[in-house]
Amino acid sequence: MEMNKLTVIQYLEERAADFYTLSDKIWENAEIRFKEKQSVQDYAAFLKDEGFTITVGIAGLKTGFRAEWGSGKPVIGFLGEYDALPGMSQKAGVCVKEPLASDGNGHGCGHNLLGVGALMGAVGLKHYLETEGKTGTVVFFGCPAEEGGSGKTFMAREGCFDQLDVAFSWHPNDCNMMPPGPVLANDSIRYSFTGKASHAAAAPEAGRSALDALELMNIGVQFLREHIPSSARIHYAITDTGGISPNIVQAHASALYQIRAPFAPELSELYERINNIAKGAAMMTDTQVEIKFLKGTSNTVLIPVLDEIMYKNMCEIPNPVERADDIAFAREIVRTQKSADQISENVFDLKPRPWNKKGNIPIPGSSDVGDVSWVCPVSQCGTSTWPVGTAAHSWQAVSCGKSDFAHKGMLYAGQIIAATAIDVCNNPEIIETAWKQLREKTGNHPYHCPIPPEITPELLESEIT
Ligand SMILES: [Zn+2]
Ligand SMILES: [Zn+2]
Repeated sequence: MEMNKLTVIQYLEERAADFYTLSDKIWENAEIRFKEKQSVQDYAAFLKDEGFTITVGIAGLKTGFRAEWGSGKPVIGFLGEYDALPGMSQKAGVCVKEPLASDGNGHGCGHNLLGVGALMGAVGLKHYLETEGKTGTVVFFGCPAEEGGSGKTFMAREGCFDQLDVAFSWHPNDCNMMPPGPVLANDSIRYSFTGKASHAAAAPEAGRSALDALELMNIGVQFLREHIPSSARIHYAITDTGGISPNIVQAHASALYQIRAPFAPELSELYERINNIAKGAAMMTDTQVEIKFLKGTSNTVLIPVLDEIMYKNMCEIPNPVERADDIAFAREIVRTQKSADQISENVFDLKPRPWNKKGNIPIPGSSDVGDVSWVCPVSQCGTSTWPVGTAAHSWQAVSCGKSDFAHKGMLYAGQIIAATAIDVCNNPEIIETAWKQLREKTGNHPYHCPIPPEITPELLESEIT
């Protein structure tokens, strides 16, 4: 590995304690979507000390921010998240489910690590440009409300990422890997039916059942499932059944739908088909339906030229992990999730998994990084911050959030991102190829933000909290 990259890797390692402290603070505050006030203050203070210029409150998001250092080309973006999950409060470093506060929040997706690892990438690149006297602009984005709030989708809609040449991120994981394929595009829609109440026995002819309409809609959607792409997904929850009395014709009923598809334009088509089913159900029952699109995220567009460089760095950078300190704790965490015969010797999966160059295995989940990846080339990796088999959104993930191995996995991610950003700065032709690949992969479909202009973060917040 080139000397200049090694120096930055070393620099981040020497400063590791500063980053661990910040990540732990974010873990302790555990603020959920749209409420990440203290976390933003902690980031702003840190970035100010590093010489960044900070703008808090962007794209209508009070807890979104942008921090910039340097000038000129290239302009490299780093995507940080810091929101926790509601109801996931959990003590750190224990092997049993034990909330810190009943109904409290917790970092079940490891975004305390995610944000700070991305920050390390930004600070590493800044250190490199500064010491080498090179031009370049480092932009760290504070992206709020990833969990259910689509912060980055609002930011993409408002043009926050338009000036970037490329952007980087990562996600905590139970192994070290590049994504084997894109995450799915995802929309959330509320369907509310309105009918007419009546005595179900004495005057059924006067009633129009909203619940019937909702049931017919759901049946229609079950038949639709046979005729959609096999990697598309449709989920629903009935959020209003209309009441608990069978002797009243239900005058209102609603369901929340989440739909997913591998490619954003396919999802728009699926959305229209489900809308038609809802309208058909309303016609069949002589009721009305209100269709309220709440939010959406796009699929990720993988950029092979960037992923290849990131993977190379992942393989070359020594994984700074001698995790003997907490090995007993990690083993106990594995035991809470696997039966004895499934437990192998290795509680950590540290050898980088082979990179699936084709990028053709969709990941059955969604992320608002997808929207950034439609407007500028993005690369992201996953690194091992959790023992083998630990799922995100689990108490185990929260419990591991301040451990030595989580810190080390975050450091590794920060080093990989910094090294990849340095490679891009030193080889501008990579940027050109990345943009060419982005255009090829999105074909004739320019970015179309799945969240319509009339939906604001405030409006969404009132709908989802
Ligand atoms: Zn999550
Ligand atoms: Zn996450």
